[in-house]
Amino acid sequence: MNTTSQGSTTLTVGDRDDAVSRLRHYFGKCDCSSPDSGAEFETIGHPWDKKSKVNTVSPGDLVALATLTSPVPGPAAVWMLNKRNLKKTEKLLKKLPVKAKIGTKSGTKLLKDGGPAAKLWDHWSQAPGFGPVSVSKLLARKRGKLVPAYGSVVAEQMEVSNPHEHWAAMQALFTDGRRDLWTTAKQWRRAAGVNSLVSPLRVIDVVLWSRGTVPDGPPCATDKA
Ligand SMILES: [Zn+2]
Repeated sequence: MNTTSQGSTTLTVGDRDDAVSRLRHYFGKCDCSSPDSGAEFETIGHPWDKKSKVNTVSPGDLVALATLTSPVPGPAAVWMLNKRNLKKTEKLLKKLPVKAKIGTKSGTKLLKDGGPAAKLWDHWSQAPGFGPVSVSKLLARKRGKLVPAYGSVVAEQMEVSNPHEHWAAMQALFTDGRRDLWTTAKQWRRAAGVNSLVSPLRVIDVVLWSRGTVPDGPPCATDKA
């Protein structure tokens, strides 16, 4: 696989076959294993973009984090669902349109320092035992097209050391004029037969995570079903 390192990432569009086989494996579209629990990240409890839930945090949203191996500790769940904290969450979520996309002009505004996403970040960071990885994953569940999920594996793949750098690096990937990564990720998603509830941003996240955890590719990679 030709993965020339370029700045913050080793991701190249030419890696289509590799990406598609990784997506198929992760989302259980191959015969070799059951899907990763993260295959339910977008759908557990309710679809992430369910209209009545987009501007609040539901128990389903909190359970979704467990599918990405970041289960929400009890005290953090209590904090999140506390009436007063939830009210502030709802106020802040309303400032982040659910359709907002990373790599667009409006997306960049929403993700900037001191912007609406950063404010939500600061608010949720007050929940006890709820660290940056959890905060980023909850933001990714609530605004799947805008905020990338941060974790150690993806951080290593992106060559970043904190969520702030991660947002910047992901934005750079999606605004790189040499390609249209959003469209590419959509094509990979379609080729892998993955539900369109999984955003192109998450498609990239899954591919990077898979590359970090199974560098040689999933066991089914040679089995072109
Ligand atoms: Zn497989």
